[in-house]
Amino acid sequence: MKKLIFATGNENKMKEIRMILADCGYEILSMKEAGIDIDVEENGATFEENAVIKAEAISKACGELVLADDSGLEVDYLDKAPGVYSARFLGRDTSYDIKNQYIIDKLEGVPDEKRTARFVCAIAAAFPDGRTVVKRGTIEGIIGYEIKGENGFGYDPIFFLPEYGKTTAEISPEDKNEISHRGRALEMIKSEL
Ligand code: IMP
Repeated sequence: MKKLIFATGNENKMKEIRMILADCGYEILSMKEAGIDIDVEENGATFEENAVIKAEAISKACGELVLADDSGLEVDYLDKAPGVYSARFLGRDTSYDIKNQYIIDKLEGVPDEKRTARFVCAIAAAFPDGRTVVKRGTIEGIIGYEIKGENGFGYDPIFFLPEYGKTTAEISPEDKNEISHRGRALEMIKSEL
């Protein structure tokens, strides 16, 4: 079976990715499983730039097909912060209970129509022949008024989907994959493989 390496150390993301790419005809390896330990600096200004930087650097180093993603949360009221800094926001090791509560507090008194936000995911595929493609998926929601739900990770407990009446931490992983930024970007990349 052909293999591809997904450049993430995040086990939660890896779970989502394996579920979505299950039928793509490739064996999917994490960096760890592929025995690759390279730290690529994500110094791009956009999600796309970061995904491409990571995928190309690792593909060059190992000569395999490498997929890499960069994702994050854009809160319109906060001028699209934390954006590409989502993982580093308030410090990489700060708990998401603290990060999520901080965002809720920042939006105190802000009405629903100004609480708009989106998750963005750019996924790049760097092929061994030097070709690279990159795709973007998004999901729109609003910032909730409280931390809610146990599923997912990161900012899921404050990302409220009005049409579901739930946060992305309250819907099932299968439902999240169907509609999520990562799911959408992966579906687009899948058709390029
Ligand atoms: P990355 O690993 O550099 O792409 O950083 C992504 C960061 O954005 C994660 O650490 C989360 O904080 C946030 N993020 C991305 N996707 C999601 C999601 O599906 N749910 C919740 N938070 C997310």
